[in-house]
Amino acid sequence: MKPGEFTFTMIKPTAVKLGKLVPILHEIDEAGFSVIAMKMTRLSRAQAERFYAIHKERPFFEELVFFMSSGPVLAAVLQKENAVEDYRNLIGNTNPSDAKDGTIRKKFAISVQENAVHGSDSDENALIEANFFFSQFEIYPHDEEYC
Ligand code: GDP
Repeated sequence: MKPGEFTFTMIKPTAVKLGKLVPILHEIDEAGFSVIAMKMTRLSRAQAERFYAIHKERPFFEELVFFMSSGPVLAAVLQKENAVEDYRNLIGNTNPSDAKDGTIRKKFAISVQENAVHGSDSDENALIEANFFFSQFEIYPHDEEYC
């Protein structure tokens, strides 16, 4: 996987529970991203704490960890040129009330916390987050021969 050509996403517990998993994947597909790794899983409390460790000092950390471990998520690695920036544009602002019309968070989020999806904020974090969920044998970049 080349830096800049992939990002990591999670469809968060509320969106999964409300049946928005397939509609969100449809938006991702329509925007030109290829799914090169995907799994449905449920984070333990400790895993959610580790994934969001950067937010440890923020007042909403406890609530966020509780929410993110409250039910299954869909984790995926997405391939596209300029993936990180394009995906952040596709999902929209963290707070859905500030997100632009047509963005995934505008359409599917129910609050700033339960904002439907995660998207990596840098190429460096995309790699860290993809490696958090997937081994090298579970990611199938399109530029490699695997068929
Ligand atoms: P993101 O990169 O757009 O996901 O935003 P951040 O990295 O700033 O925050 C990570 C996640 O924490 C967000 O996606 C939300 O689920 C949650 N979050 C961010 N800000 C708040 C807040 O003010 N209150 C609560 N309860 N959750 C928040």
